Amino acid sequence: MNLHEFQSKQLFRDYGIPVPDGRVVTTADAAAAVCAELGGSRWVVKAQVHAGGRGKAGGVVLAEDVAHVVEEARRLLGARLVTHQSGPEGLPVTQVLIEQPTAIARELYLSLLVDRAAERILFMASASGGMDIEAVAAQTPERIIQVRVHPAAGLQPYQVRRVAFGLGLEGAQIASLGRMMDGLYRLFSACDASLVEVNPLVVTASGELLALDAKVNLDDNALYRHAALESLRDPAQEDAREAKAKAHELNYISLDGNIGCLVNGAGLAMATMDLVKLHGGAPANFLDVGGGATAARVAEAFKLILSDPKVRAVLVNIFGGIVRCDLIAEGIVQAVREVRVGVPIVVRLEGTNAEQGLAMLAASDLAVETAASLTEAADKVVAASAARDASIGGDQSIGGHQ
Ligand code: GDP
Ligand code: MN
Repeated sequence: MNLHEFQSKQLFRDYGIPVPDGRVVTTADAAAAVCAELGGSRWVVKAQVHAGGRGKAGGVVLAEDVAHVVEEARRLLGARLVTHQSGPEGLPVTQVLIEQPTAIARELYLSLLVDRAAERILFMASASGGMDIEAVAAQTPERIIQVRVHPAAGLQPYQVRRVAFGLGLEGAQIASLGRMMDGLYRLFSACDASLVEVNPLVVTASGELLALDAKVNLDDNALYRHAALESLRDPAQEDAREAKAKAHELNYISLDGNIGCLVNGAGLAMATMDLVKLHGGAPANFLDVGGGATAARVAEAFKLILSDPKVRAVLVNIFGGIVRCDLIAEGIVQAVREVRVGVPIVVRLEGTNAEQGLAMLAASDLAVETAASLTEAADKVVAASAARDASIGGDQSIGGHQ
């Protein structure tokens, strides 16, 4: 789960990490009062979306007066911001952060993540901060400083000095960096974060260190013990189908292809996607209905797949071990009663009650093609999706959705 910049900055404040003073608004009309409250004569207006690269996309603007702040807030609020990280459809802007501007001397980079191989929290830092850290990592990886913190020993002063000297800091800045790294490390551990990124970490014109941007990603598997953090979730920033899947306890991930896949078990789901690829197709999603799938949950899964307008054919691949194939068939029939299915369906059922399942599908008025083996199933679904695509001439509006 990702947090917004303003939420991350509030966490930073809680852990003593200096950030610019700012307020969030949801309407342009509220912007003028916020400017008065913050004081000063210039403000930074920042679109709040779960994607970086806002600066280059017009989502971070330095406004010269109150009217300009209001104008920028009006332009951004309600719009979708497309950045190089947001995907082509962009993300909706429903909140805008207004901050006091900072006079920047240098832009640095500092982040924390988990180094799984080393079993340590890893600090990464670079003197080349700001908007192009990806290019630094790709072209000059030696300019990225790394220190790994031993969980029992904690962050050591020599590690702070290594980062500080690598960043070209001096004097009191070294102690400031130590306090900042200490706060970030405590935040990272206490919140069960998976990533904390400060880009840029700036040296201000007066020589102080300040976190100008803040990004916090949390480990979903630890959210059960962070109710307060969980409540910061912004579903509007998340893939709608993935959020719906989560509510039904389905493991669903959107992909770029056009073959919907309904599979039980993560391993079989991965193998199914490989197989579809091998036979020249492209999966529209990863979907694991889980071991304890009920007919109702399968129906939800099926509806979810069909709600994706990209889907040209659906492959159902079930190995009935714990899950019974007749329940899966019941779920499919139930889903199809509720939504119109405009795409071909290929089903491979194997294992417990497979015969009953196949008989139920055959008895329904569904145009289902069955396959006896995985290879046959992949072959059939790839051919079906290609035929479907050709027959509708790439018209995105006619999919299998309701
Ligand atoms: P991102 O592009 O989504 O990562 O958004 P950032 O919050 O990192 O802002 C992008 C860039 O805008 C920063 O790298 C800065 O160069 C610039 N910027 C942001 N806030 C200020 C500010 O208060 N003063 C100045 N001069 N530049 C700022
Ligand atoms: Mn940034």
